[in-house]
Amino acid sequence: VSSHRVFFFWYAQESSAGVWVDRYLYHMRLSDDVLLDVMARFQAEMVKGLGRDTNPTATVKMLPSFVRSLPDGSEKGDFLAVDLGGSQFRALEVKVFNDGRQSSQLESKFYPTPKEVIQGSGAELFSYVADCLSDFMESRNLKHKKLPLGFTFSFPCKQTELEEVRFLLSWTKHFKARGVQGTDVASSLRKALQKHKDIDVDVLAMVNDTVGTMMTCGYDDPRCEVGLIIGTGTNACYMEEMRHIDLVEGDEGRMCINTEWGAFGDDGALDDLRTEFDRELDLGSLNPGKQLFEKMISSLYLGELVRLILLKMTKEGLLFNGKVSAALLTKGKIEMKHVSAMEKYKEGLSNTKEILTELNLFPSEDDCIAVQHVCTIVSFRSANLCAAALAAILTRLRENKKLLRLRTTVGIDGGLYKTHPQYPKRLHKVVRRLVPNCDVRFLLSQSGSAKGAAMVTAVAYRLAAQRKQ
Ligand code: BGC
Ligand code: MG
Repeated sequence: VSSHRVFFFWYAQESSAGVWVDRYLYHMRLSDDVLLDVMARFQAEMVKGLGRDTNPTATVKMLPSFVRSLPDGSEKGDFLAVDLGGSQFRALEVKVFNDGRQSSQLESKFYPTPKEVIQGSGAELFSYVADCLSDFMESRNLKHKKLPLGFTFSFPCKQTELEEVRFLLSWTKHFKARGVQGTDVASSLRKALQKHKDIDVDVLAMVNDTVGTMMTCGYDDPRCEVGLIIGTGTNACYMEEMRHIDLVEGDEGRMCINTEWGAFGDDGALDDLRTEFDRELDLGSLNPGKQLFEKMISSLYLGELVRLILLKMTKEGLLFNGKVSAALLTKGKIEMKHVSAMEKYKEGLSNTKEILTELNLFPSEDDCIAVQHVCTIVSFRSANLCAAALAAILTRLRENKKLLRLRTTVGIDGGLYKTHPQYPKRLHKVVRRLVPNCDVRFLLSQSGSAKGAAMVTAVAYRLAAQRKQ
């Protein structure tokens, strides 16, 4: 066989598998017109969340963070941080200094978060966090020091300025500890820390991971005014004009707003875009009816979406000769890491074969090509939806500043964005297409969300010191 014919054969095969999968999942392939429409819907949600009268019934909560100042480079000191709510729980020590040039040094340790801990009782969860911090301080030889602590807590929290309370509105993702919703999380952590007589830490700041990411990137790039997370969950924050934030007194300057965009669609606003697979996934989740936008985007759910699609295709005889395996019937068997592996440029197809074989399916070459295409459609839809909501935020920033062209930086963190082979490129491309009048720099923040809590603490510490002077 000439190489020419081999190529033709391969191409014909790919395109035929591609074509029927494309048709089968046409509802998940979103055109730019649809995305511009999603963008407009999200713009309306933001306005609703910011308004005094409309906020109580808004699904996108637009939570004021009370963070008004970005790092100015003069921060210094030794800070602790804990990061809870992403794929990994960790404790950190961050040294911030300025020897002619601002810089920082970071040491950290990861701890497991077993299901018993994150889905058990709230008291146990916080005492576990305190235990891990104490262990970390022991290992870093810090137990004798009194240190300020920043807490990255990646869930929606409502806070007030003066009383310094942070009420957890609801658990999301894979967390569901009892007795914490509606209570003050910062004070629960303080209480758990007080039981440790061997350490002396002061919980000085608590931030959402999006805010932490924006602050970390803001330390490297002063133009950064958006923080974005695409990982286990998804969310974004940005700097809003005080005069538009009805829930906080004052009209001067700006404040960071945690949009909590994961809840977009919880009132039905995206029902026309959701598929039978989205509905099935939601029904089997820890929080049915909640975080519907997040469930179409983040890594906790993408593998499961792929599994549900493959299952239906197989039952209809379109894949694997119609033979379903026990593994394919098992919830959670396909994870994000598998989707990423199947979408790799070169090894993708052989990875797909390996992964499907491990699931006790007997894939033909055609099956592998089709499955790979399913993965692409699901993860591409995720990037598309994220791009649409981000485009709405960028447009809002541009209009707030009354600019024709906006030049800005978006700080990003999260496992899906960081490990999926094509995700960043797709996201950037779609954003640039949706908002051609915004020049966006995407800045990946290594360990951003966690370090950010320390940065917020450092800023709070600097401001407190300035007030004393
Ligand atoms: C939470 C957000 C968080 C995001 C990313 C969502 O489930 O509601 O607060 O920022 O996940 O971690
Ligand atoms: Mg995180």
